[in-house]
Amino acid sequence: MAIPQTKMELRPLGNTGLKVSAVGFGASPLGSVFGPVAEDDAVATVREAFRRGINFFDTSPYYGATLSEKMLGKALKALQAPRSDYIVATKCGRYEEGFDFSPERVRKSIDESLERLQLDYVDILHCHDIEFGSLDQIVSETIPALQKLKQEGKARFIGITGLPLNIFTYVLDRVPPGAVDVILSYCHYGVNDSTLLDLLPYLKSKGVGVISASPLAMGLLTEQGPPEWHPASPELKSACKAAVVHCKSKGKKITKLALQYSLANKEISSVLVGMSSVPQVEENVAAVTELEGVGMDQETLSEVEAILKPVKNLTWPSGIHQN
Ligand code: NAD
Repeated sequence: MAIPQTKMELRPLGNTGLKVSAVGFGASPLGSVFGPVAEDDAVATVREAFRRGINFFDTSPYYGATLSEKMLGKALKALQAPRSDYIVATKCGRYEEGFDFSPERVRKSIDESLERLQLDYVDILHCHDIEFGSLDQIVSETIPALQKLKQEGKARFIGITGLPLNIFTYVLDRVPPGAVDVILSYCHYGVNDSTLLDLLPYLKSKGVGVISASPLAMGLLTEQGPPEWHPASPELKSACKAAVVHCKSKGKKITKLALQYSLANKEISSVLVGMSSVPQVEENVAAVTELEGVGMDQETLSEVEAILKPVKNLTWPSGIHQN
């Protein structure tokens, strides 16, 4: 029986023709990367997300060493929904064992991902964290290989992801128009770091859809705090913690504020939030509804921005040095 769904704002994704939910489902937590997640909880979380209008699900073979893809695959299958009702993105080139953006590896990678996801195709196939590879290889070998996969119907659209923003301009300036459909940036459009903003006009001029991930700065802006592996400096971690404590002392949820901040910019097609429980889905979906209704809590936002001002736009190194 079809799952009764509520509606969420859908936004066009560049020139793809896809309409993605403003809040997208980040499935890395389903790979137990932020703490253990039981299969039943993963299935229930995805179901609740879909029921509440989230139609966009993002994963990678890297998350939890393929566990995220397997969990998401099971959860999507359990929906018993028509395939066209949801949009799935996965990635290639980054694995538990390291990076490999060669055409041979990415061809094998999509077949492995499709099997784990129990799907015939993915909507988006991203090259995952390209700053760890040779950007020239991405341009001359990986993206052409992905174009072939597109022709074969295994992926409908092609994307690139990573942390440093200059990787996007490097690649997009060197590939034929339309060869890259979307980019996925993370930790650069949130209360503590909004540097993606400057790149939006360029991305628009290239006709590229923009996905922004990690509005909670990969756990920095949550009450439970970041995982062990979080790469932020102690300075950034402690400023974010101070912001969390401040919100809590006022009886406010920093997660709601942080997510609403990212959602408020409609040039960003979807904000990917990692979710691993039904209450998180409920809260994050309520954040969108409230943003559309009463708007943001401007007073608390100003206070949080003041606390984070000394660390505003502070990031961390990622990838290999490119010349
Ligand atoms: P995030 O900022 O979305 O934070 C996720 C953490 O916040 C998890 O611990 C989650 O359980 C918790 N959380 C979510 N909603 C909450 C709520 N309402 N209350 C309390 N805690 C809450 O970071 P993320 O998961 O790393 O990023 C989102 C998604 O974006 C990922 O799952 C992944 O799909 C994608 N992503 C991609 C890349 C890349 O391609 N390089 C990088 C980062 C993220």
